[in-house]
Amino acid sequence: MALVGVLALQGSYNEHIAGMPFSSLSDHIYVFWVLLLGVKGVEIKKPEQLENVASLIIPGGESTTMAKLAEYHNLFPALREFVKMGKPVWGTCAGLIFLADRATGQKIGGQELVGGLDCMVHRNFFGSQLQSFETELSVPELASKEGGPEVFRGVFIRAPAILEVGPQVEVLADYPVPANKWKDSNPGVEGHEENSGSEKKVIVAVRQGNLLATAFHPELTADTRWHSYFLKMATETEGASSSVVAVGADL
Ligand code: GLN
Repeated sequence: MALVGVLALQGSYNEHIAGMPFSSLSDHIYVFWVLLLGVKGVEIKKPEQLENVASLIIPGGESTTMAKLAEYHNLFPALREFVKMGKPVWGTCAGLIFLADRATGQKIGGQELVGGLDCMVHRNFFGSQLQSFETELSVPELASKEGGPEVFRGVFIRAPAILEVGPQVEVLADYPVPANKWKDSNPGVEGHEENSGSEKKVIVAVRQGNLLATAFHPELTADTRWHSYFLKMATETEGASSSVVAVGADL
């Protein structure tokens, strides 16, 4: 059984866990996982539980609350170690904020971050709950070899956006916003793509080695391609020394 940990302090961890077995089915190679061994999401609430899993998902939710709970349970050192060891970690929305090295748009004093992902995230780039939205994103990495679609419908809830990335970070999806919105939210920040027109692009999905981050919530849709992408990435990531890698290698 391949175990994928899901940080279960607050937010949409149940949705990640519920979708996990089905995500295995959206890529034919992972059908073997389900038929032969299975893949299962397990709750992580304490540092020692991280020792039992090969990869980890940090869900969406509210990052200040999640950080306070993580601090209370003394999870930050173990989470940082997990990232440093090269184990695959996927952060969705608040989870993306957790993984970022730098954050802006925070309340005074900020909050503790796990870090590891060389980027600057704006915590509430798209505004409050009322400004939540769904949109179609173009994600070439999700297109199947058989010519399946690269379009993914992203659910953005009080969503963050990535404003700048380091050289090791691969941009998987971005999203155009009016330049004046950018200016209001980000005085002094140049951004990932300098557009002379009335639009600028913010980054909404990235990968850096063992780290994957999305500003939106794939776990709230029936489309399991991001979960599948993460499971595949888990088998490929060097340094992941667990059942996930073992299963991938056997195939
Ligand atoms: N912007 C939120 C935060 O700061 C994250 C929202 C989400 O995860 N849906 O935590």
